[in-house]
Amino acid sequence: MTDHEIKINFKAYNSIDDLDKPAHDLCLEAVKALKNSHSPYSKFRVGAALLLQSGKILHGSNQENVAYPSGLCAERVALFNWGANYPDDPIIAMAVTAHTDEFEILQPVASCGSCLQVLAEYEKKQGKPIEIILFCAKGPVWVMKGVETFLPFLFFEKRLIS
Ligand SMILES: [Zn+2]
Repeated sequence: MTDHEIKINFKAYNSIDDLDKPAHDLCLEAVKALKNSHSPYSKFRVGAALLLQSGKILHGSNQENVAYPSGLCAERVALFNWGANYPDDPIIAMAVTAHTDEFEILQPVASCGSCLQVLAEYEKKQGKPIEIILFCAKGPVWVMKGVETFLPFLFFEKRLIS
């Protein structure tokens, strides 16, 4: 038997005003993405914005459905848009934020495991890590370099890709 420990490194900032300009601007894009959230059931709006190498920005927002499992997270809405339309323009960073009128969100909302797995696949596909910026209106900002920060045992099997 051997014991193992995994450490997670990330940067924390007090607000998006402390970020460099590209990251700050991407956060504002994630806030814009909140507008098109379709979340009548949870009333929990999530906005995601991707910065591509070309400078193009892609928005995603959570899209719920009365048949609950048919909905999709903001991150995957944005990521699948990238995969379907811009796969040759690498993703540099993804910013994610959330808002609800029901209560105050005091810390960044982390992406769910399914979104992390999709992010992992696209990181492998493009061969470059994606900076992940999680933030909320009044709380801190957390910045991670690459999905393996969150998901060190992500599923990937390159022999399945022909
Ligand atoms: Zn998700």
